[in-house]
Amino acid sequence: MTRVMQSETSILERYRKFLPLTEKTKIITLGEGFTPLVRARNLARALGREDLKIHLKLEGLNPTGSFKDRGMCMAITRAVEEGSRAVICASTGNTSASAAAFSAQAGLKCFVLLPAGNVAMGKLAQAILYGSTVIQINGNFDRALELVKEIGENYPVTIVNSINPYRLEGQKTGAFEIIESLGDAPDYLAIPVGNAGNITAYFRGFKLWHEEGKSTRIPKMCGFQAAGAAPMVLGRPVENPETIATAIRIGNPASWEFANSAIDESGGMIDAVTDEAILEAYKMVATLEGVFCEPASAASIAGLKKSIEAGRIAEDKTIACILTGNGLKDPKCALEACKQDLDPVEADLKSVIKAMGI
Ligand SMILES: *Cc1c(COP(=O)(O)O)cnc(C)c1O
Repeated sequence: MTRVMQSETSILERYRKFLPLTEKTKIITLGEGFTPLVRARNLARALGREDLKIHLKLEGLNPTGSFKDRGMCMAITRAVEEGSRAVICASTGNTSASAAAFSAQAGLKCFVLLPAGNVAMGKLAQAILYGSTVIQINGNFDRALELVKEIGENYPVTIVNSINPYRLEGQKTGAFEIIESLGDAPDYLAIPVGNAGNITAYFRGFKLWHEEGKSTRIPKMCGFQAAGAAPMVLGRPVENPETIATAIRIGNPASWEFANSAIDESGGMIDAVTDEAILEAYKMVATLEGVFCEPASAASIAGLKKSIEAGRIAEDKTIACILTGNGLKDPKCALEACKQDLDPVEADLKSVIKAMGI
């Protein structure tokens, strides 16, 4: 297995010729990308499919803890090049953390609109500490994005949601890295779907490198939404999306059409997974593989499990699961998902040995 060599500090430098950059472009970088792709043998065994080569792409190891950094470095780099002074985004949390961080380095003003009460604490803390102006609205993500579009049309601020085409351009680099790590594209890509930008970007990246002769195939793009926020599975927008996986709590995805074509063209699928299945997968990947991802990220594992159980995954195939964000952003979810007795015991040997259960 070849490893991504990190002589460059930015994915924009490494993949410059596949991105909308010129020799003159000054790159804004926090050292994003180059994330590990780790083999998940215990998980494959637990799923009863040791024949499968399951790999986890640890996107939570990006500088702000999610894959959003891949697209944000590109969007902010171009915003600066085009003379922008301020950016704005709607966010379920990770986009705002990423936008705020890159804006801080670039010296841009950053405004973020969040659905009040539905953003994990760690993400909110990031946006605030990086110095963005945080506006929480009494409305959901879809409403926040509508407002952002309106503001973008009427005020001199650059929108850095994934409707900004540079975001998806940067996010294609995840596909390039997977091909470099495996020496080819995988047979399947399992990925959570919220606003549907990432699945679109991965497909474009895989397609481009297939055309470049760098891989023998394009993976089947398998997208997974939370059952309470599954507009693409239902075929209609969901007005009040609900799920524990707040990063994919989206009822009307911006890249819906693009994502549909990615799924159709690649022979993939879109399916929904319940919150219960998401939490089960979240615990499985932690206890079996030592990987702490966000609940939304675990939708990819829950979806893979469901697809295996439905007999939809052929034998001996290679699968890449995108673990989109870092579990540390939402410690409350972990503590609630794993009920352990955390009451203190007396500080003596007998009590501790008893608590150890040995
Ligand atoms: C943004 C996000 C998603 C969803 O990605 P889309 O491009 O909106 O489909 C999934 N997981 C995490 C952790 C995210 O931050």
